[in-house]
Amino acid sequence: MVEYESLANSNASFMEELEAAATRVIRSGWYVLGQEVSAFESEFAQYVGVKHCIGVANGLDALILSIEALGLPKGSDILVASNTYIATILAIVRAGYYPVLVEPELATFNMDATLLPQAITSKTRAICVTHLFGKTCRMDAIGAFACEHGLKVIEDCAQSHGAKLGSQMTGTFGVAGCFSFYPTKNLGALGDAGAIVTGDDALADRLRHMRNYGSKQKYVNRYVGVNSRLDELQAALLRVKLSHLDAMNDHKRALADVYFENLPDWVEKPRHRADEFDVFHIYGIRHPQRDALRRHLLDHGVKTEVHYPIPPHRQGAMQGILAGAYPIAEELHATELSLPISGGHTDSQIRRVCDVINEFGKNSA
Ligand SMILES: *Cc1c(COP(=O)(O)O)cnc(C)c1O
Repeated sequence: MVEYESLANSNASFMEELEAAATRVIRSGWYVLGQEVSAFESEFAQYVGVKHCIGVANGLDALILSIEALGLPKGSDILVASNTYIATILAIVRAGYYPVLVEPELATFNMDATLLPQAITSKTRAICVTHLFGKTCRMDAIGAFACEHGLKVIEDCAQSHGAKLGSQMTGTFGVAGCFSFYPTKNLGALGDAGAIVTGDDALADRLRHMRNYGSKQKYVNRYVGVNSRLDELQAALLRVKLSHLDAMNDHKRALADVYFENLPDWVEKPRHRADEFDVFHIYGIRHPQRDALRRHLLDHGVKTEVHYPIPPHRQGAMQGILAGAYPIAEELHATELSLPISGGHTDSQIRRVCDVINEFGKNSA
């Protein structure tokens, strides 16, 4: 059986380091907002190449807090991709603003910058981009549009740790970059965790208050904040994982190369332009008979996933919030299939997945 992902396998090579880090924290007697969180924040800021990093409890909170901290006028519209993971849209709604959906490019799954002029309204104040599947959005075109119209850019980097456009990392293009360290992400904790990166001193200071009851000094509350702290244990584990992130991304990129070389032409493979450094959080192919192909793979011992089965505008939670037709999102959600690609997978397992897919072609020809 080729699993879609086994976290025990993915984390196996770091086990001794993780256990040592956990023991260090357990014995320290200090468990919330301490040395490990500060050390991780400065190490991650340095990795991304940005001045500030603020650890928070998860990726959704990173997005909500960043959007809130911008203090946009009440009733503002925020542009967001119609096929993003629901969290990006939930964050806009939770922060009190209106999500306005922009369709992605079929070929890259990422926001189509050419559609921005028709999506903007007199109430649009920000764009929230998602670098989906580990591939950077076209921040050159999106950034230029945002600049021209005075819009803030927030980046959802939950799937793009270490991804680059040219030599620039995701998380450094907008006013804030929001990361999730959910266990399956390219940089994954052993529980929930998240962070915001920003080069803006005032925003960073506000976020440091907001994550901790609006307080930086004990019992002095400056803002109406929340409890969304990164804990010492996850921070210590993340420091271990961060030191191996580039190796993890290289491993995933090497597995992606095996797919690119061995998958048949009748599946639509991920596409990226030459200047995009893709970290393949997900290797998503497309095929019109996605469900039959998925069943064939399972019958031959290969587990896959679909990211995602239901587009945001079709979700029950979004009725009355998202209206309109989104045919590109529908098409992507109906045809996408995510193939195994994790730190725990080997070259030969990926070749086996390719063989099983090639076999499907023979049977259906
Ligand atoms: C995982 C993910 C999130 C949410 O992160 P959590 O840590 O689970 O809250 C947000 N956006 C995208 C694109 C994600 O993949």
